[in-house]
Amino acid sequence: MRATELLAPTLREVPAEAEVVSHKLLLRAGFIRRSTAGVYTYMPLAMRVIKKIKKIIREEMDRQGGQELLLPVIQPAELWQESGRWDIYGPELFRLKDRNNRDFALGPTHEEIITALVRGEVNSYKQLPLMLYQIQNKYRDERRPRFGLMRGREFIMKDLYSFDRDDENLNISYMKMYEAYTNIFRRCGLRFRTVEADSGAIGGSDTHEFMVLADSGEAVVLYCEDTGCDYASNVEKASQVHVTEKSEEELKPLVEKETPGCRTVAEVTDFLGISPRKIIKTLLYESDKEIVVALIRGDREVNEVKLLNALGAIRLELAGLNMVRGVTGASAGFAGPVGLKGVKIIADPEVAALTNAVSGANKDDIHLMNINPGRDFEMDHVTDIRMVQAGEPCPRCGSRLVEARGIEVGQIFKLGSKYSKVLNAYYLDESGKSKPIVMGCYGIGVTRTMAAAIEQNHDRDGIIWPASIAPFQVVVVPVNVKDKTQVDIAQEVYQRLVIAGVEVVFDNRAERAGVKFKDADLIGYPLRITIGSKAVNVKQVEIRIRRTGEVIIASMEKLENTVKKLLVNL
Ligand code: ATP
Ligand code: MG
Repeated sequence: MRATELLAPTLREVPAEAEVVSHKLLLRAGFIRRSTAGVYTYMPLAMRVIKKIKKIIREEMDRQGGQELLLPVIQPAELWQESGRWDIYGPELFRLKDRNNRDFALGPTHEEIITALVRGEVNSYKQLPLMLYQIQNKYRDERRPRFGLMRGREFIMKDLYSFDRDDENLNISYMKMYEAYTNIFRRCGLRFRTVEADSGAIGGSDTHEFMVLADSGEAVVLYCEDTGCDYASNVEKASQVHVTEKSEEELKPLVEKETPGCRTVAEVTDFLGISPRKIIKTLLYESDKEIVVALIRGDREVNEVKLLNALGAIRLELAGLNMVRGVTGASAGFAGPVGLKGVKIIADPEVAALTNAVSGANKDDIHLMNINPGRDFEMDHVTDIRMVQAGEPCPRCGSRLVEARGIEVGQIFKLGSKYSKVLNAYYLDESGKSKPIVMGCYGIGVTRTMAAAIEQNHDRDGIIWPASIAPFQVVVVPVNVKDKTQVDIAQEVYQRLVIAGVEVVFDNRAERAGVKFKDADLIGYPLRITIGSKAVNVKQVEIRIRRTGEVIIASMEKLENTVKKLLVNL
């Protein structure tokens, strides 16, 4: 490809709209352009990266027995009503009507449509197992579309669905996908971790997420510092190892104490001169079912995913100020569990173990001292509802947990018979007995993977593509386009590499060498071949490795070999 024919409009300025590195660099290097919030055009360079990621995915899916198909994006509401998700999916579902006023959705995921397909086509155990996948645009009206391709409203996903006779066979399909995903992200040149994840309140059992490790990641991952232990978990899922500290303290009588203006844990502990470990943090939540009070120790944070699961709820939100006043009679910051009526109280085990604790008195500017759970208030439910932090013991081996940030690029999920039962996808086993098909689903964010690769591979000059997914592997730059001999040699190098099967751009633009070098670094070609006076005089070219900045002087004769050898390790 000649640079004069390539649509790769690079920008010198950092666009104001972009917050994270991948978003900035994708815009600056001419890979994407925004259409509207969370919706982008993939320019030719981006398409080349996407094609490569898709190719790797297809190879690994096919290797495990996956068959590619293409399901419709437009899905009838009836199917979503049948599965019950038309109502619970909420505002993330893009909904539309046709000219006859019938309801439809743009597919955010395809469990309904594929289960409906399979119920029509599969009726015997002889047709199982089946693994069907597609690579397609997905639509989700995200609350906060942001970070460029990281959280879009239209994005490309690979989704595979497995159909098995029973749990045992589902485990086999699941392990196949686990292996395929490991291969895919390794082949994309990414550093990643596979972590246990939360499967949500809505059924399902085992699930793992594949996290590309990067500081800009939205997810927090906890893993065991002992390299012999393979425990790694999304923080949403990580469970606490609860050690009950037996208190020797004598139970003291309740006392009200004036705490003017002390609303936060820090303000209360400062004012009273006590440890946050003595505080019962009282948080009011509204779920789709009820109003609940969550109690955790003052030095901890609530894990809303755990809370949601413990409640078996679908939605959960912190209650507004009016609701807090309505339930507690006090303004926010002075809520406490003693004397609360008509609400469900759910407490973390660390709270249940406290003696002579402190919390709001449900009166403005007053806290209660010497609260003893069980004596002074009843708990409806005691269960782990808090965030685990780095430094706490590993639930598997007891060593210390370490924290890292990650970008979720893929997730695999055992669905069981959740969808097959509601959507009526049954098969007949050997004895003629009708059984629900056992399913799994497995997604990879293709466009998010491209962005994650940049988050992990860049420097201040631009992108550093792993060679396996780079839009082109090499750029050839003649230093002086006015020097005909240099241009001729550059042309020759370009053609020889093309014939050798290397993906190469010939930067034949009438620009200064400095401009071309800057663009080459920004776009992130793994190798840059510079054709200068040495090429004319002693038949040598300079090969610069983008990742390390290392420069290799190569003879023209063995150029193809040298380039190919270098690319293998990038
Ligand atoms: P998240 O928790 O980040 O919202 P999710 O768990 O809802 O993602 P899945 O339903 O598991 O996502 O989708 C499979 C994959 O699709 C994810 O692992 C991610 O790589 C990608 N993905 C999900 N939502 C988006 C989005 N809004 N933009 C880009 N990629 C996405
Ligand atoms: Mg997910």
